[in-house]
Amino acid sequence: MSDLLPWHQSSWNRLQKTRRQGRMPHALLLSGAQGLGKAHFARQLAESLLCEQPADDGLACGQCRQCLLLKAGSHPDLRQVEPEEGKQQISIDAVRELVAGNTLSVGEGAHRIFILDPADSMGRSAANALLKTLEEPIPGSLILLVSSHAERLPVTIRSRCQTLAFTLPGEGDAITWIEENTGARSEQARQLLQLASGAPLSVPALIEADELQRHNRLLGDFAAIAVDDASVVQIGENWLKETSLPHLLKYMIAWLSAIIRSKMTPASQLAFPPLQTLPERLDLILAYQFLDRLYDAERKSMNNLNPQLALESILLEWSRIASGEG
Ligand SMILES: [Zn+2]
Repeated sequence: MSDLLPWHQSSWNRLQKTRRQGRMPHALLLSGAQGLGKAHFARQLAESLLCEQPADDGLACGQCRQCLLLKAGSHPDLRQVEPEEGKQQISIDAVRELVAGNTLSVGEGAHRIFILDPADSMGRSAANALLKTLEEPIPGSLILLVSSHAERLPVTIRSRCQTLAFTLPGEGDAITWIEENTGARSEQARQLLQLASGAPLSVPALIEADELQRHNRLLGDFAAIAVDDASVVQIGENWLKETSLPHLLKYMIAWLSAIIRSKMTPASQLAFPPLQTLPERLDLILAYQFLDRLYDAERKSMNNLNPQLALESILLEWSRIASGEG
């Protein structure tokens, strides 16, 4: 009942073809980074399958009785399974209910559709319960597992689903979407897309949180450390008031990667203007070493008991590398 996202088009067409051939799988794993519209796709697919007279491209008509039920959120054959409010995990009871659907008579449509989102939030017992259903599918049913961390799902589950992998859209499609759906324009849209690691649907939340402004403040500090003796301790302290260590590391990794890219291909435009003197000044090997150091810190950052100390030591190293001391 809503338009397809442009970068979903080819997956959608492939799946509609599968459907016309009567080869729809019983379980589909929609996997890929956050912010690519997987949940949106799952919902559109469910609507498409339940609609009485979908359009030629397979999209739901929005007007038939099934579509009206869907719009009202009361379609008996579509179940949305998610963690209960305030909980992190999809409960075993929610999955048992789904499994119990096995014994119920099929509702008015030819399909019963379950959307588990995020599927990786199932605990072990919930996953085991689901596994039984995947091994003995309910006739006429489709289970859609939506996950931004499919690697966290048990292999036994993954191997029983057909995987639909969502990849980053091309920059043109992504920027057009951002411009049409947020107030951001051209250069700003491009920067936001970069902060969102290429996932356009993550951009509205970034705008909401004034993330571009924050990012530019942090980037200014990072550049200042490189050119003079800005107080590393003070900056570290300020940064951690702004955001978390993992988030800061993500940014530093993006900046360093951009500097290295620009060093390797001097003709390319550096994505972050405040860093523009750095590709020339920075030793390539040291830059790579520092990038490794950042990745290492990122791996450990979840369990880091003293983020401030960790951050200070990283910024100190950055200050040394940038001044050519190694
Ligand atoms: Zn319809």
